[in-house]
Amino acid sequence: MPRHILVTGGAGYIGAHACKALSKAGYVPVTFDNFATGWRDAVRFGPLEEGDLLDRARLDEVFARYAPEAVMHFAALSLVGDAMRDPGTYWRKNVNGALNLIEASLAAGCRDFVFSSTCATYGDQDGVLLNEHTPQEPLNAYGKSKLAIEQMLGDFGASDGLNSVIFRYFNVAGADPEGEVGEFHQPETHLIPLMLDAIAGKRDALTVFGTDYPTPDGTCIRDYVHVSDLVDAHVLGLKWLGDGKGSEVFCLGTGSGFSVRDVIAQSGRVTNRDVPVVYGPRRAGDAVSLVCGSEHAIRALGWRPKRSDMATMISDAWRWHQGPGFTA
Ligand code: UDP
Repeated sequence: MPRHILVTGGAGYIGAHACKALSKAGYVPVTFDNFATGWRDAVRFGPLEEGDLLDRARLDEVFARYAPEAVMHFAALSLVGDAMRDPGTYWRKNVNGALNLIEASLAAGCRDFVFSSTCATYGDQDGVLLNEHTPQEPLNAYGKSKLAIEQMLGDFGASDGLNSVIFRYFNVAGADPEGEVGEFHQPETHLIPLMLDAIAGKRDALTVFGTDYPTPDGTCIRDYVHVSDLVDAHVLGLKWLGDGKGSEVFCLGTGSGFSVRDVIAQSGRVTNRDVPVVYGPRRAGDAVSLVCGSEHAIRALGWRPKRSDMATMISDAWRWHQGPGFTA
């Protein structure tokens, strides 16, 4: 019997890397994606079921067809700027989509659920090293919608025995070291791919969003984790659920913070090129500093991040960026 895992958002950046990791670990990832932000080219490691999370009948069909042993839920809108401009869409799609998915999963008898949550659920925490127990006070509708889904998972755990592993991601970077999949957003809003495009002359200078933050160099600080390490944790999370260890939350970061200026300097070194930069105002909704410890994932899951040093993340991303990317 193939061990199907339903991967929502399997055509997106993190979802596609997760599908590769799952297939290497002996599972069959079934991608469920509406292609709002995903790429057909990125679906390479298992079957594709096109559909929207707001379409419950379509979800029921897919659960009936594959009888997945677990769900990995990546599909979501995830841009802070858009969430500030259009919170209604974030609430509707992220929260209603997750609710449909959870209910369809339970109706099909699938009780293991891995959820991609975010450090944006913490909001601004005065530069403290975050962990699973830090109070969550999100600043924007993106973080709030993810926090609502975390809480929803807890409620369905109590009522229906849903077992969830929640991963709170910090900033995900890099690309598959074998170059099969990588980061490709249209439009791109993330720091590292925008910077690599600017370095490669594919777009104008990178704009640094704010130089007056209360940090040593005035720019925001983030904790960056390699996408391959991140998805390895997901495979361990599946095993955790399969072993009957129950619902749990894990932060996935490295414990090291990099300012925007640090990332720019490191990118210049790795690519051996100048980074064209201009300085602009703050971006609404950005937290000053988000850095977490990952002791819990390391101890409890046996997670071993291997490529999450900044130079490796940038060089893996740079290799991918010099290729053609994905097409629709
Ligand atoms: N950033 C920036 N210029 C850009 C994009 C991002 O200065 O063109 C900054 C942003 O303000 C944040 C950091 O880079 O401090 C990481 O932003 P990104 O959008 O990559 O991820 P986020 O932290 O929003 O998840």
